[in-house]
Amino acid sequence: MKFRNFKMVGFVIYGRGSFDQLDEIIAPHRRDSSPMIFLVDHFFTNSALINRIPLRGNDKIVFADVTNEPKTSQVDHLANQLKDEFGKISGLVGIGGGSTMDLAKAISLMMTNPGSSADYQGWDLVKSPGVYKVGIPTLSGTGAEVSRTCVLTGPTKKLGMNSDFTPFDQIVLDPELTANAPVNQRFYTGMDCYIHCIESLNGTYLNEFSKSYGEKALELCRKVFVEKQEWNDESDDQLMMASYAGGMSIAYSQVGVAHAVSYGLSYLLGTKHGIGNCIVFDKLEEFYPEGVKEFKGMVAKNKIGIPQNITNGLSEDQFNTMINVSLGMKPLWENALGKNWESVMTREKLRKLYGKL
Ligand code: NAD
Ligand code: ZN
Repeated sequence: MKFRNFKMVGFVIYGRGSFDQLDEIIAPHRRDSSPMIFLVDHFFTNSALINRIPLRGNDKIVFADVTNEPKTSQVDHLANQLKDEFGKISGLVGIGGGSTMDLAKAISLMMTNPGSSADYQGWDLVKSPGVYKVGIPTLSGTGAEVSRTCVLTGPTKKLGMNSDFTPFDQIVLDPELTANAPVNQRFYTGMDCYIHCIESLNGTYLNEFSKSYGEKALELCRKVFVEKQEWNDESDDQLMMASYAGGMSIAYSQVGVAHAVSYGLSYLLGTKHGIGNCIVFDKLEEFYPEGVKEFKGMVAKNKIGIPQNITNGLSEDQFNTMINVSLGMKPLWENALGKNWESVMTREKLRKLYGKL
C-alpha cells in the first residue's frame, strides 16, 4: 500500500470582511517593481468589489472571461500576455468562482514552466513552482480553493494540471463575497460539494481522513439546502466551509459516477460542471439511492429546475465520444465501483445511462 503524501494550501484566512486584509497578506510577496496581478471573474466588472482591490505600483486587474470553462488556449494566451507586458510578476490573485480559481492556478504555473499548459494536463508533469498565487472564491462548492488540480479543456482532453505545485499559497475565505450569487448558480455549485461528499463517502477509496471531512461537509450542505427556511449570512458561511471540507475529503479519496459521466457531457456539449453533475446525479438511483433521494428533495425545496432530455437526438458517434471520455476516468470508476468496475459499467450500460440524461 502506498499512501498519498499530498501538498496542501499554504495559508488560510477565514471570516466575513477578511478580504480587506489582502493588502497586508500579499505585501511580503511583492518583488521589487514586479506587479501583483488580480485575475477577477468578469461578473465583478463595474462592481464595488473592484474598488476594494489593493492596487499598488504597476499592479493590474485582468478580467477573466468565464463564459466557458477554462481552456488551455485561454491559459496560454493570458500567461503570454503577462510575460510580454511585464516579464516577471510578483504573483497572481484569483478572485471568482471555480473557473477563475483554476485559471489563476494554471496561469501562475505557466509563468515559470515552458511550453503550453496542454503539456502538463495529467499527473505530476509540472516541473517548477509557479509564481505566488492566492485564491479568493466568490462561489462555494467546487473545492477548487483547496485542490491540487486545475481542470482545463485542451486540444485532446479535459484534464487538470495535477501536481504538488498546483495548490494555492494562500486562500482568503470571505463568505461575504458569495452573498449575491444567483439562486440557481449557488445551488448548482453547492451541489457539486454535496455530490463530492456522496461520491467520496460511498467510494472504495474512503479512509477516516476523507470520511471526517466528507461527513462534516455533508452536514453543512444539509443545514443549508435541507433545514434552512430562508437563505441568510449563516448559509453563506456554512456553504463556504462545506466547500473547503468537501475538497479536503476528496484530496484523500476520489469522486465517482456522477463526475465520470458528467465529464463526457462537458467534453461533447460544453455542459458546465455544477449543472452537469446535477443532470447526471438526478439519474443515479442505482448507485447512490439515498443521496439521489435527498438530492431530489433539495431540488424541490429550493425550487430549482434540472434540465432533462439533453442527449435527445445525439448520434451514436456522439454517444461513443461521451462514453470514451467517461470510461477514461479510471480512478473515478474504480473508486465508485471497485477494482472490477469494467465488468459493472459496460459500454452498453453507460450508453443507456447517457440516453436517460
Ligand atoms: P464558475 O466559476 O464557472 O462561475 C459560474 C458563473 O457564476 C460565471 O458566470 C461567473 O461569472 C459567475 N459568478 C462567480 N461568482 C459569482 C458571484 N459571487 N455572484 C454571481 N455570479 C458569480 O462556477 P463554479 O461552479 O464555481 O466553478 C466551476 C468550475 O470549477 C469548472 O470549470 C470546473 O471544472 C471547476 N472545478 C474545479 C475543481 C478543482 O478541484 N480544481 C473542482 C470542481 C470544479
Ligand atoms: Zn466537482
